[in-house]
Amino acid sequence: DRIISPQVRGSEGQVDRAIRPQSLAEYIGQPVVKEQMSIFIQAARQRGEPLDHSLIFGPPGLGKTTLANIIANEMGAEIKSTSGPVLERAGDLAALLTNLEEGDVLFIDEIHRLNPAIEEVLYPAMEDYQIDIMIGEGPAARSIKIDIPPFTLVGATTRAGLLTSPLRDRFGIVQRLEFYDVESLTTIVKRSAGKLGVDLDDSGCFEVARRSRGTPRIANRLLRRVRDVAQVSGDMLVGQAVAQRALDMLSVDSQGFDHLDRRMLLTMIEKFDGRPVGLDSIAAAVGEDKDTIEDVIEPFLIQQGFVIRTPRGRQVTKRAYEHFDYQLPQDFE
Ligand code: ADP
Repeated sequence: DRIISPQVRGSEGQVDRAIRPQSLAEYIGQPVVKEQMSIFIQAARQRGEPLDHSLIFGPPGLGKTTLANIIANEMGAEIKSTSGPVLERAGDLAALLTNLEEGDVLFIDEIHRLNPAIEEVLYPAMEDYQIDIMIGEGPAARSIKIDIPPFTLVGATTRAGLLTSPLRDRFGIVQRLEFYDVESLTTIVKRSAGKLGVDLDDSGCFEVARRSRGTPRIANRLLRRVRDVAQVSGDMLVGQAVAQRALDMLSVDSQGFDHLDRRMLLTMIEKFDGRPVGLDSIAAAVGEDKDTIEDVIEPFLIQQGFVIRTPRGRQVTKRAYEHFDYQLPQDFE
C-alpha cells in the first residue's frame, strides 16, 4: 500500500471536496492549460454555446477531475460524472445522455476503458447531438434517431495514446496536465493547510511539497499525515522538522520516492546492471502490473530524469546511481 499512491483512498474523497479548487483562479499551476481554458470558456460563453468536447490527460492525481468540475462551474453548467468501467451497456450511456440539460457537462473518467459498443453511441452524440436507439427485436427491429441537448463531453485518461483514434478525433480541445513544480505544490500545500486548519510554516509547506512526486493529491495526503504527527506530539506550529519527521516515518525520501519507486530503480540497477530493459521484465521483477508501472510509477521517474526510454527499453540514468550512492558500472552508456 503506497502512501504516495495517486489513487483516491478510503474517506479521502470527503476531505478532498473541502479543499478542491472550484474556479480556474483557484487552480494552481498548469499555466498553459489555465490560460487556454480560460479563453475557450469565455469565447463559448459569449457565443452562448456549450464548450467544445474536451479531453484531459495526465497521470493520476494531477487534477483532471478537478478541472472537469471547474469547467462546469465556469460555464455555469451542471456536471454529471461517470467513468469508463462503470458504463456496462450502451443503454447506460444512452440514459445519461438523454437526461442531460442543455449545456451540461458530462464527465467520463478513465474514458479509455469504455467498451467499444458504448463508444459507438458516443460518436453521433458528440458530433450531431443525436443517438441511435434500436427498438423492437428480430426482423421488425429498427433504429431511430433521438436528439439530445447540446452538451460538453469532458473525458479524462492517464494516457492519450490509450484512446481509439475515432474517439480522440472527436475532441475539439485536448489538454495535457504536467507534473507540478515544487513552487506550485508549495502553494497548494499552503492553501490546503489553511483549509484544514493546520499551522504549517513556509519551510514545512516546502518540505511536504518537494516530497509529493509533483502530484497535488499526494501533497494533500502527506499534509494530512503531517497534521496527525503534529497533533499527537503536541506541536502547534508545524515547521520543517516536524514535517520531515512525519515524512521519514512514511519512508518517503527526499526526492519524494516511496518504496515502489526505489524498488523499480534498484531492480534496474542491481538486476539489470543499468542496461536497457523491457517493461514486461521490469514488471515481473518488481512484482507490479505493467499498467501501474507505465501509468503511475514510471512517468514521474522519467520526468525527474531517473529513467529514460530508449528504443531497446527503459534505462536508469546516472542520477539514479547517484541517488543511491552506487558506483556507475564500467561500461555504462
Ligand atoms: P485526477 O482526476 O487527475 O486523478 P483530481 O482532480 O482528483 O486528480 O485531483 C486530486 C486532488 O488534488 C484534488 O482533490 C485537489 O484537491 C488537488 N488538486 C488537483 N489539482 C489542483 C490544482 N491545480 N490546484 C490545487 N489543488 C489541486
